[in-house]
Amino acid sequence: MPFQELIESARKSYSARFGKEARWTVAAPGRVNLIGEHTDYNGGFVFPMAIERYTVIAAGPSDTPGTASLYSEIFDQTGEFSLLEKTPPAPKVDWHSYVGGTIACALEKGLRPKPFDGVIVSDVPLGGGLSSSASLEVAVATLVEAASDRKIDPVEKALLCQKAEHEYAMMPCGIMDQFISAMGEEGHAMLLDCRSFERESVPLDDPNVAVLVINSNVKHTLSGSEYPERRNDCARAAELLGVELLRDASLAALDAAREAIEAEPNGGRIFRRARHFLTEEERTARFADALRRGDYAAAGREMYAGHRSLKEDYEVTCPETDLLVDLAARLGLENGVYGARMTGGGFGGSTVTLVETGKAETASAAIAEKYETETGIKPSRFVTRPAAGARLIEE
Ligand code: ADP
Ligand code: MG
Repeated sequence: MPFQELIESARKSYSARFGKEARWTVAAPGRVNLIGEHTDYNGGFVFPMAIERYTVIAAGPSDTPGTASLYSEIFDQTGEFSLLEKTPPAPKVDWHSYVGGTIACALEKGLRPKPFDGVIVSDVPLGGGLSSSASLEVAVATLVEAASDRKIDPVEKALLCQKAEHEYAMMPCGIMDQFISAMGEEGHAMLLDCRSFERESVPLDDPNVAVLVINSNVKHTLSGSEYPERRNDCARAAELLGVELLRDASLAALDAAREAIEAEPNGGRIFRRARHFLTEEERTARFADALRRGDYAAAGREMYAGHRSLKEDYEVTCPETDLLVDLAARLGLENGVYGARMTGGGFGGSTVTLVETGKAETASAAIAEKYETETGIKPSRFVTRPAAGARLIEE
């Protein structure tokens, strides 16, 4: 849905519900990671961009002391949240956890909002790997700022949202999603150092280039040990290389230690996990350089190589995301496709494809059609350009 329409629909819904005009409208985008996958917990780099899909909240002051009341249109439910004290996490995680957690963590940060009520609308697909959760948290935090008539440092804001996700939604996520949703810049992707929190906005504003996101609409059931096992493998590799985080190791050091690592229990696997991380760091740097030069074909090659590494060394792809990347590659440069890779945690989910804007829709339709023929699954897809981060919309 075009941004302005989403804003209008939130405001209309607020007026219909509360019989007055919204005082504040806030928006926070979802995101997609262009490259730098499974790198955050090793202290490495990620390279997300905000997408033109948002959680929007239209809100206004209310007369119920010490209370925020928010209606989620998607769930058709209202939640009530205390503004007086930091409430503890509820035992069962549901959408209230994200909103209540963000409010609680904002109170803890010293924000003192006046009572408010509001309506939450969103066109970020829920659970689609585009971080509807972070966009909801960051939207709520931005609304709490408005209702407090105070702004906090955006890094603090992102971190309080991450804390809400950890402690209230029980999801031990990195910092990427909240950082990009809070601080994304229009026409730029964010090269983010997950160890120092340093970040660089890298232009991706060439009108001839766009980003195609295709959701395989497959989510493979996991036993639950997949992610912890990979984290542990990386931690073990770091230990064997004598560094605190794999970030401090080098490919040369890994190669030199190959025999010793492979002699360990599961050593072959541990070696490959570390190789994914260390090569991904190099790919991410080269990808950013290629974007700075406007060499999209070179950027695309890094994406394909990244996918291969996630498939062979990290083993988090699946036949469906492999197929989507393969179909993109088969279209190739002559059909406007520069490169593609899976994005997000893996085992299903979405792919991200760098495309020529003028050929994006045709390429997208061609990939979707072949994917559906081969798998019987209809993928969801959209083309986007890098969007701006969270904001209070004034007019
Ligand atoms: P993702 O972040 O990849 O979309 P998550 O499982 O992390 O998936 O977060 C999805 C959850 O976030 C939803 O199940 C819901 O609890 C919450 N959420 C996201 N958007 C909304 C919304 N508009 N209204 C209420 N809850 C939402
Ligand atoms: Mg999420």
